This record gives sequence, structure tokens and C-alpha cells, in this order.
Amino acid sequence: MDKVLFHYSKTYIKAVYNVSMPDLVKVVFDIPINDSFDYISEDKKIKIGSRVKVSFGNTTRIGVIVDVIAAESKPKTYKLKKIDEIIDEVPILTKEMFKTCRWASSYYHHPIGQVIFSAITPLHRKRRKEPTSKLKIQHNESFEELILNAEQKKIYKSIIEDKKKFKVNVIRGVTGSGKTELYVKLAKKSIEENSQILIMVPEINLIPQTLERFKKYLKIIPLQYHSNLTAVQKHKVWKACYEEDQIIVIGTRSSIFLPFRELGLIVIDEEHDSSYKQTEMFKYNARDIGILRGHNFKCPVILGSATPSFETIRNIKINKYREYRLEKRYHKSKLPMITIIDSSIDRPNEGLTNTLINSMKIELERNRRVILFLGRRGFSNSVICANCKTIVKCPRCGTNMTYHKNVEKLICHNCDYNQNVEQTVKCCDNQALTPLGIGTQRVENKIKQLFPNKSVMRVDSDNITSKKDLEDFIEKANNNEIDIFIGTQMIVKGHDFKDISLVGILNIDAGLYSTDFRGLEKTAQLITQVSGRSGRQSEHGNVLIQTHNPDHSILKTILKDGYEKFSHIALEQRKNVNLPPYSHIALIVLSSSNMNFSKSVLNKLREMNRNKSIFIYGPAQSKVPKRNNQYNYQLLVGSNSSKLLSEHISKFEIYLSSLNKKIRWHIDIDPLES
Ligand code: ADP
Ligand code: ZN
Repeated sequence: MDKVLFHYSKTYIKAVYNVSMPDLVKVVFDIPINDSFDYISEDKKIKIGSRVKVSFGNTTRIGVIVDVIAAESKPKTYKLKKIDEIIDEVPILTKEMFKTCRWASSYYHHPIGQVIFSAITPLHRKRRKEPTSKLKIQHNESFEELILNAEQKKIYKSIIEDKKKFKVNVIRGVTGSGKTELYVKLAKKSIEENSQILIMVPEINLIPQTLERFKKYLKIIPLQYHSNLTAVQKHKVWKACYEEDQIIVIGTRSSIFLPFRELGLIVIDEEHDSSYKQTEMFKYNARDIGILRGHNFKCPVILGSATPSFETIRNIKINKYREYRLEKRYHKSKLPMITIIDSSIDRPNEGLTNTLINSMKIELERNRRVILFLGRRGFSNSVICANCKTIVKCPRCGTNMTYHKNVEKLICHNCDYNQNVEQTVKCCDNQALTPLGIGTQRVENKIKQLFPNKSVMRVDSDNITSKKDLEDFIEKANNNEIDIFIGTQMIVKGHDFKDISLVGILNIDAGLYSTDFRGLEKTAQLITQVSGRSGRQSEHGNVLIQTHNPDHSILKTILKDGYEKFSHIALEQRKNVNLPPYSHIALIVLSSSNMNFSKSVLNKLREMNRNKSIFIYGPAQSKVPKRNNQYNYQLLVGSNSSKLLSEHISKFEIYLSSLNKKIRWHIDIDPLES
């Protein structure tokens, strides 16, 4: 039998032999091996995308079928195990999901088994009865009519003209310009035509308010999907996507792997947000997979942002994406006044300059609200001995320890090691530990002293840890119960706070002088987004930025001319050095207890590269140089062709796999941090 025919014409073989011969079945598991395993089965019900139970080593495992190949005429030559049990008669992976998983596995260089298992729910990993009760899609009989303003209407009309085509539409609009209402109206149209809809937001805490907006105007009540659901709840949403024709899901990045059958619209709100990138294990970007799925379903994809990512701006420029603008704020409130405070003149005490404190007094006396933003949680950055100037370091990884006052502990933000303050190793005879640097807790402390009669809330990942904390925070914010919010990144994302008249950015300098090539882009987005929290509903807001570098030229551009002008200048700079979005890059990160060994392996990879169209930087220390006594080194590999880059990464992978196991490595395609 012809080899090619054997592989590609299963039906032909069946017709010729017309006997029940065992098929060769390729199965993948949730293990870090980029390979499938062969089994045989005589069961003709077997289908790609179904789960099976098989023996694997000494145990039994659940795997997913990725291929079925008709057997050779002499099946006895196979010494393969049989499949013990077919769990799904109907494949749990739709064809489209299967295609998406294959693409993601090959693009992100991540084992196909692990990609597939991240696209199904925790309950699918076990052989047990699925929950019998189904999610009922609920209807809302008292929904309101949504009337768009002229600006919104124009965009709406243009997008629905091509509602059955794949097209990426960027809606650029400042916070409060009414992007959400536009999404709602588009969703309404799409759902009327029996489509499924996916709305993604970057943070779980944005889901409740987004849900409320959709509920108000739509007949169908959206489902939510995020990491805080129980395994059963996740399973039910997953199943509903698989079975229901009309469905809206509002979710965080993991919702991009839900098994939709007929998506009619994908919205990715705050598309620039780095939370769409998963940084652990399977390092995918949900925005980019969203665009792929839009292509698979031939449906429009909407990217919304006041501060589009440079990738998106570039795609607009080369006409890959279409741009729409919402120029005005819906409630016609003015954009805030931004003022710079020179911290080298007005020296901050516990992170706060006099100018900022005085402005706070004025606003709080008028019963307005204030947000203070800073990038660091905890009490202080690090702890120094005032006597001998030794900085307390993590005994495991050497990073400076962060002081957390509420639990009286020193915690390593790198490896999570923690110790009580008293346990600190004696550095000198007159040890005098003093906090250095400013974190949210330290500012909170000071603010409570300065404004004892005002209610203060700290919004960071130490203080907001559960769904209940989050609901509590949102409720208090909406009921105007909080006068002063002190927060990290968590507070930046699109919350619709009322009566915020002042935003203080405590220290922007780390962002201005970041070593990361995206540092300025992120800082500009941050300034613009935090400022957007101010003066939303009724009046002009104020933003005060504390910096030691008031003359920083990029900072000036951002403030004077705004994000857009800044992005043109910064994009030119990227172009000159051929970094994304002008090229594609990947990081190869190696960890081992032997620093020199890591470096020599990376140097070897570097030498392997003979192609002029590939550029390589490094080996260099990773952003996290050491973790749990393992040294991390990395190579940045780039090319103007993503295909060529991918081919090179594959070669490197083969080489790395051939090394002994003392070395661990991972690959990050399109890294957001380098
Ligand atoms: P964005 O999502 O761009 O930040 P929002 O959608 O939050 O902006 O809109 C700002 C405010 O304007 C919200 O309070 C919203 O409810 C209101 N709004 C926007 N468009 C409409 C509309 N067509 N009808 C009624 N209210 C609207
Ligand atoms: Zn540590």
C-alpha cells in the first residue's frame, strides 16, 4: 500500500478492506511533552477531540485524541496498547477549538497536550459524572432601550455593515467616551441574529460593572467566566458555550478558550492591558488568540482602548486594522488638568509632597474623593540597617525583602519567602532596621494620621484577595463610602468611580527609567489611564504627578501633547532599533544552579544561529536573576519574519531537549517584559 495513501485516505482503505481493523490513535496528555502517544482501538466511534482513558506507564490517564489513522493491513505488527475507554462519543473539542489549540501550540511553542487541557475545564480531567443540572440562560424582560449619540451611531453603523466578515476594529476613545455602550449595542444586534458573543475585560474586578451595563439593555443576561468560579460553575459555562445558540460571556483572559460554536462578535476591552498575557506556564496572549478566533468564525473583533498598544497602532497604520474614534466624553466632562510636582524641591515625606497634601485637603473639605496611585504594594520597598547600611535580603534568592507592616513580616516578592522582623540576621552590633522606599501600606499609614476623620481604603492584591473583598470594595466605592483610595495597578483599570476630583501619582520615576523597552509605553498608558479616573461624571478633575525628573522630555510630550503624539515619537524610536512592533521577538530563559553552565548553553545557541535575518541579544541576566537558588539567564531572539523566528526557536528547542535534565528552560513568544 502506498504510504501517502495510507496516511491520507482512511475511507479508501476502509472501502478496500471493509473489515474492522484497529485504528492507530494518537493521544495527548496534560504533560510537558510536545508529542502524542500511540494506541490502538477497534471502536469505530472514535473521533478526534474526544477524551479517552488509557494506561500510561504504570497508571491510567485521561488523554485527548488528536489524530486517528487507519491501521495497516497487518495490525499485529503494532505492539501498542488498546484504548481502555472512550469517554466522549461526541468530541469535547470542536473542530474550531482544535484548530485554535494547534495554532497556539505551534505559535507559542507550548506542548499541544497542555494547550488542549487548558482549553477544557478542571472537571474534564477526571472520569466522573458531569453535573446534570444545566445553566439556564436567563432573560431580562425589563430591559431598556439604548440610544446611541451621533458619534457612537456612526461607528455602530459602519461596523455592522460588515458584521459577517472578519475584521479588526479598533475603538479609540478616552475613558468615559461611551465605548461600553457601543459594545452593548453591537452585542444586541449580534444576539438578535442568533450569535454567540464574547466580551473580554482584563481584570476580574471589572466583570460586575460590565455585566450590569449589558444587563440593563439586553434581553439575554450574560454569563461570567473567570478564575474565581468553582470547577462546577466553570464547567456549566463551558457547556453552555458548547450548546446554546444565543449566549453572551463576559470574561477574563481564560474565556478565550471557551468552546463557542458560532461566535458573531468578540470584544477585547482595554486591549493594551498586559493582563491579557498569561505569564506562567502556557504564555499566550488572549488578545491575539481572540483575533485568530475572529478569523476562524469570520466575525468582527473589536479592540477598545484609550491608549492602544503599539502593536495595535502599527496595525492601524498598515491598514490591517480599522480605527474608529470617540472624541468626546459622553457626559461632556472635561479632561483633567495635569500638574507636575518636582519632588527634588518639594521633598516628599512618607511619599507625599506638601503640594499634594494641600490639594487633598481642599478637595476633601468639599467632600470630593481622592485616588493615590503608586506601583508598589507592601509597606516599603526594602529595609535598611540605619547603623551599618546593610539592606535586608532574601536568604533564598538575594532580592531585597519587602516590609509588610500589617503582618509585621518581611516578604520576598520574588520567591514568596517570608520571615518575622525579629528573625532578621544580625548585621552589626547596633542593628537599627528602618524601612526604605514607599509602598501602599506606608502611605496608608501616613494618610490615616493626616486625615483621621476620612475613610481610607487600600486597593492592592494584599488587601483585595477574595471575591467578597472585591464586591465590598466596589459597593463602597459606588456608595461613596470611601474618601481616599490608595492603590496599585488594581485601581487603574476602568472603574467608574463617582466624584473623584483629584488623582495623585506618587512616583513615576521608576517607569520613566525602566530598563524594559516597553517601559515608556506602559508609563504613558498608566498616566493616561489613571488620569481618566478623575473628574468623570460632572466636573473638571485634577491630576498631580510627583517626579524627580520634571524635565524628562518624554514625560513632557505625554503631558503636553497626549498619548497619541507620544506614541508616534516612541514608535519611531522602536523602529530605529528594530524592536516590536517592527520585529517579532522571543525570550529563551534558562534556569540552573550553575550560572556558568546556563551562560555557556545560551552562548552555544547563539553560535548555532547563522542566519542574518535573525538577531540575538544576550545571554543576559533575567529580570528575576535568581529564584530558589536557581540562576536565570536569557537570550532575546528576534526577526522581522515571525515564521523564521519560529523555525529558529524550534531548532533551539531540539538542542535544549537533547541536554541533560539539570537545566530547566522555557520560551516566551511575544514577551511583554524583557
Ligand atoms: P468608556 O467605556 O469609554 O470608559 P463608558 O461606556 O463608561 O465609557 O461611558 C461613560 C458614561 O456615559 C457611562 O456612565 C455611560 O453609562 C454613559 N453612556 C455612554 N453612552 C451612553 C448612551 N448611549 N446612553 C446612555 N448613557 C451612555
Ligand atoms: Zn526570595
